Amino acid sequence: MTSFIDIPSGSDFPIQNLPYGVFVPPGSDRPRPGTAIGTMVVDLCALEAEGLLETDVFQTSTLNQFMESGRPTWTLVRTSLQALLSGEDPRLKEDAALRRRTLHRQQDVRMVLPASIGDYTDFYSSREHATNVGTMFRDPENALPPNWLHLPVGYHGRASSVVVSGTEVRRPNGQTKPGEGPPIFGPSRLLDFELELGFFTGPGNGLGNPIPISQARDHIFGFVLVNDWSARDIQKWEYVPLGPFLAKNFATSISPWIVTLDALEPFRCAGPHQHDPEPLPYLQSKRDSSWDIGLEVAIQPPERDEEEIVCRSNFRHMYWNVCQQLAHHTVGGCNTNPGDLMASGTISGPDKGSFGSMLEITWRGQHPVKMFDGSERKFIQDGDTVIVRGAAEKDGLRIGFGEVRGKVLPAHSV
Ligand code: MN
Repeated sequence: MTSFIDIPSGSDFPIQNLPYGVFVPPGSDRPRPGTAIGTMVVDLCALEAEGLLETDVFQTSTLNQFMESGRPTWTLVRTSLQALLSGEDPRLKEDAALRRRTLHRQQDVRMVLPASIGDYTDFYSSREHATNVGTMFRDPENALPPNWLHLPVGYHGRASSVVVSGTEVRRPNGQTKPGEGPPIFGPSRLLDFELELGFFTGPGNGLGNPIPISQARDHIFGFVLVNDWSARDIQKWEYVPLGPFLAKNFATSISPWIVTLDALEPFRCAGPHQHDPEPLPYLQSKRDSSWDIGLEVAIQPPERDEEEIVCRSNFRHMYWNVCQQLAHHTVGGCNTNPGDLMASGTISGPDKGSFGSMLEITWRGQHPVKMFDGSERKFIQDGDTVIVRGAAEKDGLRIGFGEVRGKVLPAHSV
């Protein structure tokens, strides 16, 4: 399928993708839902108002209503958009005035958060990441905690500080304990990124009604790239006994475009074997519940256009898949709502070049990364921009995520 809209080769957004986001058009201050195609954004609020979509979910400044509408509506909208953008349904292609009202160049619009995020959960589902962290901070012989292979470990994060790509991130001040002395207060010295992918929940389940793993897919609206900013020195001092708190609540950056499961269908693949131990019955899922999505992280130093790629990983490395995460999250009766965000946890692969955090890449700072400009990085410095990108590619088809970027500003003085 091709579009009458010109799509540059190598674009993240062919007509097979059609990710959803929320944008502010030029000369307006009203955010509205849209989809990306090539270098353009299509105004879904306007298309719907013109009667071209047969829905009533886009007259709003978030995607929550659309997320709530469920898979039949998601499929209907995707089918309608592909017909309109291919020209098979000629109503957009042959109406120049309508095209002018509904199409904008991506470079002219401002992207905002795609949803009103009620709750944010972060998992810890990469075996390689958990093993690396356990080797550094626990016991190399027993790196994984005893529960890790039996359940998808996670924690309830902070939704209020989830920000869209491009938002600058202030280095946090906080309490740390360097060495044997008393704790001190000041700027985190060990600021890190975490390479993650997150999913937005769809219709949601009522309180007390778990989502069975067989139905989990219908509750997953789509994926975004996530950078779960982490202050390692704050984390180290605070995390016993209840896990991360201020080390991770100051900012979590996400990419603006939500890529749907429909778009990613050609890239489904098997996840890792889970036979030692086998998961309990409520966590047993089909093995093709993973996706082959290439991911990379780059650091751009202050005042430079060039960047250093410090990690290349893949979503298929995740041990626990998203259906298992959602089934586990709700099995005790916890409700989810449309627009909740659930992130994977750091996605590390098996080899050094595929580790998804500076903590692992530099092994607690012991092996600094050499940058193209001759400087070194143990962790992220003020003025650095961290960029995460992702795309699934096969047989000439590329389904991209765009990117999530964030520049680090110096801490407020204390
Ligand atoms: Mn994380």
